[in-house]
Amino acid sequence: MSSPSTPAAAGAAHPGEPGAWGFDLGRLLAERGAERYELHARHLNHQLPRMLHTIGFDKVYERAEGAHFWDAEGNDYLDMLAGFGVMGLGRHHPVVRQALHDVLDASLADLTRFDCQPLPGLLAEQLLTHSPHLDRVFFGNSGTEAVETALKFARRATGRPRILYCEHSFHGLTAGSLSVNGESGFRDGFAPLLPDTAVPLGDLDALERELARGDVAALIVEPIQGKGVHAAPPGYLKAAQEMLHRRRALLIADEVQTGLGRTGDFYAYQHEPGVEPDLVCVAKSLSGGYVPVSATLGKDWIFKKVYASMDRVLVHSASFGANAQAMAAGLAVLAVMEDEHTVAHARATGDLLRTRLAALVDRYELLSDVRGRGLMVGIEFGRPKSLKLRSRWAMLQAARKGLFAQMVVVPLLQKHRILTQVSGDHLEVIKLIPPLVLTEQDVDRFVAAFTAVMDDAHGSGLMWDFGRTLVTQAIAHR
Ligand code: PLP
Repeated sequence: MSSPSTPAAAGAAHPGEPGAWGFDLGRLLAERGAERYELHARHLNHQLPRMLHTIGFDKVYERAEGAHFWDAEGNDYLDMLAGFGVMGLGRHHPVVRQALHDVLDASLADLTRFDCQPLPGLLAEQLLTHSPHLDRVFFGNSGTEAVETALKFARRATGRPRILYCEHSFHGLTAGSLSVNGESGFRDGFAPLLPDTAVPLGDLDALERELARGDVAALIVEPIQGKGVHAAPPGYLKAAQEMLHRRRALLIADEVQTGLGRTGDFYAYQHEPGVEPDLVCVAKSLSGGYVPVSATLGKDWIFKKVYASMDRVLVHSASFGANAQAMAAGLAVLAVMEDEHTVAHARATGDLLRTRLAALVDRYELLSDVRGRGLMVGIEFGRPKSLKLRSRWAMLQAARKGLFAQMVVVPLLQKHRILTQVSGDHLEVIKLIPPLVLTEQDVDRFVAAFTAVMDDAHGSGLMWDFGRTLVTQAIAHR
């Protein structure tokens, strides 16, 4: 084995040249990049390549920038998914990229764990300017960790065990977050989970009934649910907050997906005045698409209960939490958002996209609703009126709910090179969460492609041949 200061082999490249020290990323990718699907099938979750082959999504993307990526032939794809929302600023934003080069070049004495580094304090200071009623931040590494932190802090601060969550909610997939997941598809087979309780989003009576039992620490809620893109009804968050506070319980806003400008406000809870969650969970976009990071923001008294004495200093901590790369990426993201007016841009571009899509609802009987806020958009399909389409729709529904939405997502990629996703299992809803740097031309491209796909679905029937293939597959996989 070569020591760190020894070139890998005699006759190898000189120090400073690629490959001089035995590891050459470029060469590795050049030599083995073509094995990507086989490697995944052999060593990782084998169902992913299987699913991608089945729907023809098994592309080889080579390069990316902003809201676009390119395959080996140079074809340009429009990204309406943003890596499940982590690419809020698009891919390879030059300012974030430079910040990461800079932080690596600075050779900081990071993660000593027994000192206080400047970058976490500076990022916390910046983040807190966007929620002035909150005082402190805990940095972790992923959305689910932001949620786990909030759940633990709420229990400790209130001294109560039970968390309420909303039906159809999604807060991550580790055991605590899974306990507040509103979908059996994710929960099944992982019991026992924590004994938490679901309430319908928007149902204040159900909330009051649960609070009356006196054991509730908090309600956790996505201001706009990722599954199906359903917003909390007007007034719900404020009324829920008042009820919770009357019972000395907390409101947790999960802004992992909706935060950092996605919905046209910095946080989605800010859409209505007077909502001041006790804890706010942030992740995804704060990473700049590069370095996993999460932040759980909260009130001073909550943090003081958790870290109540010096011997509790490490009672909630994470080995990689607040690392310099993540902090640098976060600081760069917030600076770019200010300089480029990202929140206002997301609001205006989202309004344009939704207005143009909503105008199609009357034209296409299979299209039933367009909803959302900012650049978080749900497109819902529903039962058509005409006899011809009704029997086709019924064929898909009988096999599996959600197949029509899948039937739209596939040609959007195959024919129009636009990446979208179905917004959850068994849902006839497509969710659009593109990078917030989406342009008007990107909107034009999406609307034109979507219109063409809708024309196909209401016309010749070619698209329905593919629908029949999906039905056969759905039946085979039962
Ligand atoms: N909370 C919400 C609202 C999310 O949408 C997600 C992920 O999609 C999470 C939490 C979990 O985030 P992560 O996948 O980073 O753990």
